Amino acid sequence: MSKCHNLSNQCLIDKAQNEKIDLVWDRYEKMLPLCGFGEKGICCRICMKGPCRIDPFGNGPQEGICGANADTIVARNLVRMMAAGAASHASHGKEIAKTLLNVGRQTAKNYSIKDPEKLKAIAKNINIDIEGKDIHQIAREVAYESLMDYSRFEEDTCTWLTNTITKSRLEKLEGLGVALNNIESSVADIMSRTHLGTDADPINLLLAGMKTSLGDYTGMQISTHLSDVLFGTPEPVISTANLGVIKKDAVNIAVHGHNPLLSEIIVDVVDELNHEAIAAGATAGINIVGVCCTGNEVLLRRGIPMASNYLSQELTILTGALEAMVVDVQCIMPSLSKIASCYHTKMFTTMPEAKIPGATHLELHDEHALENARDIVRQSIEAFKRRDESKILIPEEKSNIIAGFSTESIVNLLSKIDSEKPLRPIIDNIVNGNIRGVVLFAGCNNVKVTQDYNFVHMAKKLLENNILILATGCGAGAFAKNSLMNSEATKEYAGESLKAVLTLLGKEAGLDVPLPPILHMGSCVDNSRGVDLAVALANELGVDLNQLPLVASAPEVMSEKAIAIGTWVTGLGVPVHIGLMPPVEGSPLVANVLTEGLKDVVDGYFIVEGDPLTAADKLTQVIEEKRAALNIPSAVKEEK
Ligand code: SF4
Ligand code: SF4
Repeated sequence: MSKCHNLSNQCLIDKAQNEKIDLVWDRYEKMLPLCGFGEKGICCRICMKGPCRIDPFGNGPQEGICGANADTIVARNLVRMMAAGAASHASHGKEIAKTLLNVGRQTAKNYSIKDPEKLKAIAKNINIDIEGKDIHQIAREVAYESLMDYSRFEEDTCTWLTNTITKSRLEKLEGLGVALNNIESSVADIMSRTHLGTDADPINLLLAGMKTSLGDYTGMQISTHLSDVLFGTPEPVISTANLGVIKKDAVNIAVHGHNPLLSEIIVDVVDELNHEAIAAGATAGINIVGVCCTGNEVLLRRGIPMASNYLSQELTILTGALEAMVVDVQCIMPSLSKIASCYHTKMFTTMPEAKIPGATHLELHDEHALENARDIVRQSIEAFKRRDESKILIPEEKSNIIAGFSTESIVNLLSKIDSEKPLRPIIDNIVNGNIRGVVLFAGCNNVKVTQDYNFVHMAKKLLENNILILATGCGAGAFAKNSLMNSEATKEYAGESLKAVLTLLGKEAGLDVPLPPILHMGSCVDNSRGVDLAVALANELGVDLNQLPLVASAPEVMSEKAIAIGTWVTGLGVPVHIGLMPPVEGSPLVANVLTEGLKDVVDGYFIVEGDPLTAADKLTQVIEEKRAALNIPSAVKEEK
């Protein structure tokens, strides 16, 4: 199995081998064979009588020392993964909401309200009266109401869940008792009920897992929309992606993680400090590049080029031309600081909950954000002076991309065609089969799969079948790096009817070129944008989300966050494809609930398929079934 679908990365993988630096792929090989108990989810470390392991072949123990069986153990382990995912996204949203509160109090001098109209629209949507109030008061009230979703003790459903999904979906979730009132207590509830000797019923556990996963969703909504208020709502922007965005003659600074609070300010200080970089010999000045979802955040709002998604993050340092790796939270390999120590690269951690041994910790505080950013940039300029020219190897390849497709920007674009009913052009083209359906790609890379391979191969097949693609997170990174987010990709890969629609939309929107066939909607938390678009389409059509010809896919799923996302997407009624089996095979009951039983309860369910082309066929089939149920003509004649 090759390591990266993108062959331009190989020279750096070879370089690491020559320099005797272990990368993620080397560490994976050293870990093989992986522990089968862990892979199947049938080991339990919840108390110190264990760890206990269930024999999957039926010859050895079938119960842990306390009597917990495989179903209980698998369900407990799985819902703890969901809780961890929910906690991550929720804490991201909480940091953003607290910053908005401080902006409203006028105590966060380095931040401001960049999109006041969006703030007012949010206030209206969550039933805050804005009449006669100044923008700072509205900010305070929106922040308070959002923070209530983390602290409410009354049984009312979270504000950001209630107001962002269809009415019928909300009723369904409330009827099941999974529409949560408090994100943080839903996480605490999982930890409490999975403690030794509490909840042993796998179905009851899975329902609690759905509830905390909806907390993940609620935290995402808060993250996305309050970030737009603080940093601006994305509009289409042209940029580039892949390791070729690192420049030999610049001070290169990578921003990596998920939370844009510091990276936005770093981008802000570039102009001010550019002359210092040039004076240090970097003739191209300062070059900020993105990694993972912090990269997606500054790509969408600021056009910052994307160097890497998850799995190839170490390679950015291997170029020998990266002066600083600045990280915030989530998906940061601890190996980065060790690799940085082999080079002149400075590694900075910036969040109190995410320190890494070997890195310089420069903690972000609202009131010092600008000073922190300047300090990081200046230390990066100093690092530039210590570069070892003999160690530089930057792959040339980079792709042109169009990103920045927030729901608002898509509606704005479509309103140039129909200002009264902007969604009509999309709906009409779905109904007539020109757009057969929509797939939202999300999720990570996983070292068990050639990096980006599943994303790229699934996408090409779906596009050929006239299926429009939305993308977020490292999935979006995979498409960006592999030249699937530009107009040329529409010409090359889209089926005839999809190509015609994207060409027309591009023309009507005043662009000279077709829209890209894969719309970059942002970071992992911006899966909420995909939901917003789907909810708007469902409301316009007068149907629920489960009826739309819409599916989601995480073909290289890896993190606990992805498990939480996949679960709430099924809870919203949408089928979810995953390219790898989560650790549930040790319990046929739990595996069956996820792939079949869920459908009867929430309409959504998981489809597990490792082969990308077969997966594309399966998703196309699901889309056709949805079309048939809606009584709109099959578009099967379009299939190649
Ligand atoms: S705790 Fe479970 S997964 Fe981990 S090493 Fe032990 S048996 Fe394997
Ligand atoms: S909770 Fe039960 S199954 Fe888990 S380690 Fe303790 S005794 Fe073993």
